Amino acid sequence: MIVVMEKGATKDQIQHMAGRVEALGLRAHLIYGTEHTVIAAIGEKREHTKESLESGAGVAEVVPILAPYKVASREVKPEPTQVVAGGLTVGAGVMGVIAGPCSVENEEQLISTARAVKAAGATALRGGAFKPRSSPYSSQGMKEDGLKLLAAAREETGLAVVTEVMSPEDVELVASYADVLQIGARNMQNYRLLEEAGRLDTPILLKRGPSATMDELLLAAEYILNEGNPNVMLCERGIRTFESHTRFTLPLASVPYLHHKTHLPVVIDPSHGTGHTYLVPDMAAASVAAGADGLIVEVHPNPEGAFSDGYQSLTFQQFEQTMARVRKVADALGVQIASQSRRVTV
Ligand code: PEP
Ligand code: MN
Repeated sequence: MIVVMEKGATKDQIQHMAGRVEALGLRAHLIYGTEHTVIAAIGEKREHTKESLESGAGVAEVVPILAPYKVASREVKPEPTQVVAGGLTVGAGVMGVIAGPCSVENEEQLISTARAVKAAGATALRGGAFKPRSSPYSSQGMKEDGLKLLAAAREETGLAVVTEVMSPEDVELVASYADVLQIGARNMQNYRLLEEAGRLDTPILLKRGPSATMDELLLAAEYILNEGNPNVMLCERGIRTFESHTRFTLPLASVPYLHHKTHLPVVIDPSHGTGHTYLVPDMAAASVAAGADGLIVEVHPNPEGAFSDGYQSLTFQQFEQTMARVRKVADALGVQIASQSRRVTV
């Protein structure tokens, strides 16, 4: 349930109520809204909990949270969350663009891509150093050497670094190099990993599992939020259906649906979502039209020679053209695309 404090509730009253929530064996999550401060009381409630909290000084009302996820729900926090990670801003009317190769391969590949995506308007560089591969015989990534190359590319370009972490033991290591930890589709329900990522405040890009429902995605986000990390971006990257004309099926209705249910920003991945280079520009533009708060796009200097996912990667020129289209859609809708040194309305 949520304890909604009165508009003018004092700090002491808020702290006191948080203490009372904890004393009832519940976990208190404080959310400071523009109008009200709200205390989400998470856990098994006992009899008369509601009545006992309602009597507190400075309390406006105590209402149940209907959604199965709590801290992630709009009921608890009506205002959209904006996630800021280095040069990347995503959410609350600002759109961020993350671009780069599927895998970090070598210095030249990464730095040339970083320069190109920055010039085209991206504010973050993606690149997998720890790669989840369907086959154990495929390259598993450059691991820490790849993280070092990502950090060097950030040093030169100022782009924020987004990279995947696959296991709880690696969270600290990856977070020491990255601005955003990507939790990949295959790991969306790796609860130990989610909890570990929730203990830091490094922003998380949480990808939807290919057969996960929206509730499961939001409950996965809840694992991170519940540990205290509020900086979660949800990523729709396509789901598995009977249809095989695309690698996955990319449901763009996820964007308005999630905006309805959660305050967390929504990023679309049109690369994995389609699996074909020629479909990416249209779906990137459509994602912006659907209200996406961000895009994550695979870009490679030579897609044909890429270690992984070349068939869905854009060349530098294709990315530049895609960004020009994305800007037109954003402009028509009055959406801001974050730029690195300043925010501009395009
Ligand atoms: C990736 O971003 O390269 C990746 C492996 O994505 P996903 O987890 O969505 O498959
Ligand atoms: Mn990929």
